[in-house]
Amino acid sequence: MSLRDGFTFAGISSRVIFGRGTLSQVGAEVRRLGRTAALVLSTPHQAAEAQALADALGPLAAGVFTGATMHTPVEVSDAAVAAFRAAGADCVVAVGGGSTIGLAKAIALRTGADQVVVPTTYAGSEMTDILGETAGGQKTTKRDPAIRPEVVIYDVDLTLTLPAQMTVTSALNAIAHGVEVLYARDGNPILSAMAVEAMRAFKAGLPVVVADPLNTDARAQVLYGAWLCSTGLGYAAMALHHKLCHTIGGSFGMPHAETHAILIPHTAAFNAVAVPEMLAPVAEVFGGSVGGGLWDFAKSCGAPLALRDLGLSEADLDRAAELATANPYDNPRPFARADIRTLLQHAWEGRRPD
Ligand code: NAD
Repeated sequence: MSLRDGFTFAGISSRVIFGRGTLSQVGAEVRRLGRTAALVLSTPHQAAEAQALADALGPLAAGVFTGATMHTPVEVSDAAVAAFRAAGADCVVAVGGGSTIGLAKAIALRTGADQVVVPTTYAGSEMTDILGETAGGQKTTKRDPAIRPEVVIYDVDLTLTLPAQMTVTSALNAIAHGVEVLYARDGNPILSAMAVEAMRAFKAGLPVVVADPLNTDARAQVLYGAWLCSTGLGYAAMALHHKLCHTIGGSFGMPHAETHAILIPHTAAFNAVAVPEMLAPVAEVFGGSVGGGLWDFAKSCGAPLALRDLGLSEADLDRAAELATANPYDNPRPFARADIRTLLQHAWEGRRPD
């Protein structure tokens, strides 16, 4: 963003707690909100953690719902709202990644429930007022102040179990938020500074986590980067990169974090042509050129580099480019369908951007 144009920043409204062992503060935060009956949410994979949290909450826990799943299908949200009402709950506590936090948001939107969320990936849903929901195979995105969680508790200890590959792709997913913050039309110097600080944290921390997943100092650095990037995602408008990932993820069933990880070097390189000064910090942090530096970093951490490795067929690229350019949207560099088709070809092949 350019200071010449001025800016408006309404401030960050969620209460944020960061540290190790902070899961133990969930009960105090529920009480601080004036709530007495929490429905604890998780995916089936993290059901044991959710049950353990409910046990620790004792009488503050009204029940446990462990059916959270990807893309927030409305049927799951309806079942969760029914469980919320049947349990007499007055707030939700989500422990998990973007899928579980998405379910908390869906319940909050339907019931007005307060949310205490404990993110265990780096995807970044926790600080945002965005909810993507799926109905009849169609994913639609809403923004509403009621969607934004009241309290976000980051507990480094809960990220130690995040598998290596997901650690890397989820971190690149977060970095992608940071990159788009730097040229967001409604960005500001605070969010930009947070995005650059995040990139430094990922550059320093992620390779250490890859080599030593139980290194709590490096895990803390990476989770700190995730918070910084989630805040950018929550308070600035995203552009080409997020639009492309949304289209490819939604229309071709591509996995969320991996798609972000593969595309971000390419979309950043594409936009760097139009806003080189805004993206210069990316090259400063990762070295080389904007796209090349991100690609080298992703490769060195063992990230997937080619869309073809995710099962996307080359024949789908025309349709993907068509879908991604069907509706106009904000981006620092104007583009035509042919530009996006070329970008997707390179990402499909796994080429290093220049
Ligand atoms: P996810 O929440 O689907 O988690 C993937 C799997 O990893 C799940 O089985 C989960 O239980 C497990 N898991 C999570 N943390 C773990 C840990 N620490 N240890 C072991 N296993 C763990 O994946 P995600 O990438 O976090 O979220 C993706 C979803 O979030 C997508 O649907 C995406 O659209 C959404 N999202 C939404 C926003 C928003 O602002 N609305 C932002 C980012 C992502």
